[in-house]
Amino acid sequence: MANNFVISGAKIFKPEGTVDTANIHVSGDKISAITQGAVAGTDVIDGRGMFATPGLVNAHTHASMTLLRSYSDDKSLMDWLQKDIWPIEDKMTRRDIYWGAALAAVEMIRGGTTAFADMYGPDMEEVAKVVDESGLRGSLSRGLIGFADKGERLAGNVALYKNFHGTANGRITVMFGPHAIYTCPPEYLRKVANEAAKLGAEIHMHMNETQVEIDDCVKNYGKRPFEVVAETGLLELGFLAAHCVYLSDDEIDIIKRKKIRVAHNPGSNMKLASGIAPVTKLLAEGVNVAIGTDGASSNNNLDMVEEMRLAALLAKVDTLNPTAIPAAQAVQMATDFGARALNLKNVGRLEVGCKADIVLWNMRGVEWQPNYNPASLLVYSANCAAADTVIVDGKILMQNRELKTLDEEKICAEFTACANRLTKN
Ligand SMILES: [Zn+2]
Repeated sequence: MANNFVISGAKIFKPEGTVDTANIHVSGDKISAITQGAVAGTDVIDGRGMFATPGLVNAHTHASMTLLRSYSDDKSLMDWLQKDIWPIEDKMTRRDIYWGAALAAVEMIRGGTTAFADMYGPDMEEVAKVVDESGLRGSLSRGLIGFADKGERLAGNVALYKNFHGTANGRITVMFGPHAIYTCPPEYLRKVANEAAKLGAEIHMHMNETQVEIDDCVKNYGKRPFEVVAETGLLELGFLAAHCVYLSDDEIDIIKRKKIRVAHNPGSNMKLASGIAPVTKLLAEGVNVAIGTDGASSNNNLDMVEEMRLAALLAKVDTLNPTAIPAAQAVQMATDFGARALNLKNVGRLEVGCKADIVLWNMRGVEWQPNYNPASLLVYSANCAAADTVIVDGKILMQNRELKTLDEEKICAEFTACANRLTKN
C-alpha cells in the first residue's frame, strides 16, 4: 500500500552529522524529496518542534531475552550464562520466543529503534513473525551452539534463510549465527561457512568479548579468536562481530582487511565487567562500528538512546579524551553505521532515495531546553521516551506515542504469563 505524506518543518539530522530545518517527503517506502519552505496539503505531519533522525539500528541483541530481564544480574559472563541463562533458555517454548520478541518490538518502537540484528535459539520463525507484524526491520540469525548441534541447528538456520530472507518487502533478512568461539569449534565453524556460502548468507557472531574467552582460545587452538575464525572461511562472507572488547593489532588488521563490521555493546560490557572495546581506535582505522544493546538480561533494556550515551561517555573515559565520539558521531553510529553493520542498503540516512525509516523526537520536554544542538540533546540529555513518531519503510508504526501495529496491552499480558510460567520452580 502506498504511503504518501510530508513531515514539515522538522530539524533533520543529515548524513554528515549536521542539522537543518527541512521537509521530508515520503512516497511508498522511500524518501522522495527533502525540501525547504512551507508545504500545504492534507497528508502533512507537523514536524515543528521535532528532531528527525534516521531510525535507530540495534546492531546486536537477543529480543526474546526480555523474558529474562532481572532474572540474573551482577555476575561474570561465563557464570551468568552457564549457571543461570542457558538452563532456563532450554525451557523456552515457541510461544515464549514469540511473546518475548513481541514485547521487545514494543520496547524498540517506543524507544525509536527501527531495525535490529537478532540472534537467538530455535524458533526464530517466531521472531520473523513479530518483525513482519510489527513493521520493524530485523536481521535474524539462529544462534548456533556447535558443541550441542547434531545438525538440526545448522539446518534450522538454513531453513530460516530459505523461508524468510528478503521477505516482508525486504524488512526481514537472515544471517547465520555461530554463537562464539567458546561454543563452536573450528571444524563446526567450517561447516557453517560452507552452508552460508552456498546461500550467499552473512554471519553474525560474538567475538572477543572477555579476556577468559581469548585465553581459552589461545590455550585450545594456539591462536586468538579472529585468527582461528579467519581460517574457517567465515570472514569472507560478510561478517558482523559483536563485542570485540579485546583485540590484538593483528586482529585489528584482520578486521580492516576483511571489512568486518563491529557491534559495540557498552552497557552489556560494563554490566558483565567484560571490559572496554577499543572503539576510538577502530573508528580511527576506518572500521564500521555500530551500537547494540545486547539482550535485555545483560543491559537491562533495549534503549538505544541510552546506548548512544554510554558509547560516547565510555570512549571518553577509555581514552581520557573528551573529543572521543562526539554526539553527532554517536548518532551516526546508531543509524548509518548500524544499517551498514546489518548490510541494509539505502537505510540509515535521511537522504532522497533512502528507505523512509524515520524517528521524530519530541523536543518540547524540559530536558531539551534550551535547544542549541538537537544531536547533543538526544545523546546527552534526553531519554528514549522522546520518540514521538516512528516510521519504517514509509509506514507509521507509532504516532504521538500511539502504537499503530501492535496491541501493547495484549502483548504485556501474554508476555507476563510466559515469564511467570518459565520461572516458576
Ligand atoms: Zn550477545
